[in-house]
Amino acid sequence: MMPGGDECDDLALYFHRKDSYHFATNLGDNGSPGWTSKIFLVLSVVTYMHNDVNHFTFTLEQLMEFEPKWIAWEITRRCNLKCVHCRSSSEIEITGHPDFSLEEGKRIMDDIAQYASPVLVLSGGEPLLRDDVFEIARYGTDKGFRMCLATNGTLVTDKTCKEIKAADIKMVSLSLDGAKAATHDNFRNQQGAFEGTMNAIDLFRRHDIPFLVNSSFTVRNRKEIPDIYKLVKSLGATAWYMFMIVPTGRGEDIMDELIPREMYDEILEWHYQVEKEENELLMRPTCAPHYYRIIREKAKQAGEKVVRRNLKFSTGGSKGCLAGQLICLIDVDGEVQPCSYFPKSAGNVKTTSFKDIWEKSELFLQLRDFKGYKDSCGKCEYVSVCGGCRARSYSMTGDFLAQEPFCNYVPLKMKNGQS
Ligand code: SF4
Ligand code: SF4
Repeated sequence: MMPGGDECDDLALYFHRKDSYHFATNLGDNGSPGWTSKIFLVLSVVTYMHNDVNHFTFTLEQLMEFEPKWIAWEITRRCNLKCVHCRSSSEIEITGHPDFSLEEGKRIMDDIAQYASPVLVLSGGEPLLRDDVFEIARYGTDKGFRMCLATNGTLVTDKTCKEIKAADIKMVSLSLDGAKAATHDNFRNQQGAFEGTMNAIDLFRRHDIPFLVNSSFTVRNRKEIPDIYKLVKSLGATAWYMFMIVPTGRGEDIMDELIPREMYDEILEWHYQVEKEENELLMRPTCAPHYYRIIREKAKQAGEKVVRRNLKFSTGGSKGCLAGQLICLIDVDGEVQPCSYFPKSAGNVKTTSFKDIWEKSELFLQLRDFKGYKDSCGKCEYVSVCGGCRARSYSMTGDFLAQEPFCNYVPLKMKNGQS
């Protein structure tokens, strides 16, 4: 058996209900949306009418409720791989962060189910290292969650596929960081990792299990972006999500390998052109919030409407950064964080109900108050569609409300000399 497993790219498993953009149809789902949501709704409409960012064509997708739609759940920190960018610095032996018991896992799901019915992504580490992973999944399915699994693929067998189906897991995500074995294995620090992923894909196809592929990029593998896209398409994936590393966990060691900001925009523009022509594969850059600015700028320049494909699986069609707004991570110790790359706790589900953490944590309330964002982001007319990567601001400046470090954009207010 190969060592290893991550899953660090689990954000891309955002499973969006078709109607979830529609404020009116969604009101009252899973409990009250709360007064903050309603105020935000009104503010969004007023802000967009005022700024006329995109001729008001995107209204419905902006009508965001701050409901937990997607939760990544680190069910173990143990992993059989040692990827260069791993957010949780996983290894096969982890001290100080033991797996919680099945009973505790069920209690946590009971607690969440009283308040919400999100997509729940079993993540890690490598979740397949837990013997009870499918018991957890089955319990979640029975609770009404849409269960997903984020695996590195190296431990997938015929038996795993049967268990995935029996637990009614809706989608599996895999990582592919190179179009060639050498690139992927180098990134994943494991010879044979590429072969493992390909083997898993083959098995998923044979068992008719829908899968999506996440690809993480740094300068090390960026040249392979177009080839990976072609490969993923040819493999029959439901979706491909391109992820620009957020320097968290082991990712901090490759700070000097991060895609520089000028190149970042180039890649996002490439993505925009490809996505425009793509009719089969769902694609969206993950955690590249200013992509949402770029698509609006490009569409405006071309005199086109922003046309959103009806994504069944998406990284969050409603806004660039969703951390603490629609998504969060629960780590193996029970700490609730805004997203998988944001190592700051809003509270712990061992001592506080998930509902209280979601609705009352100061951290989450700050992330939902876009007026409190600083510098360019705070003045930006795109803040409600983009928001900048709060985790990147946090890791690179120590202030999660600071300007997104990878964005070049000068907001209109700044160009016009307004404060
Ligand atoms: S300044 Fe901030 S909010 Fe505006 S586009 Fe850039 S990252 Fe997004
Ligand atoms: S802070 Fe937002 S954009 Fe950044 S990694 Fe988290 S969810 Fe993605």
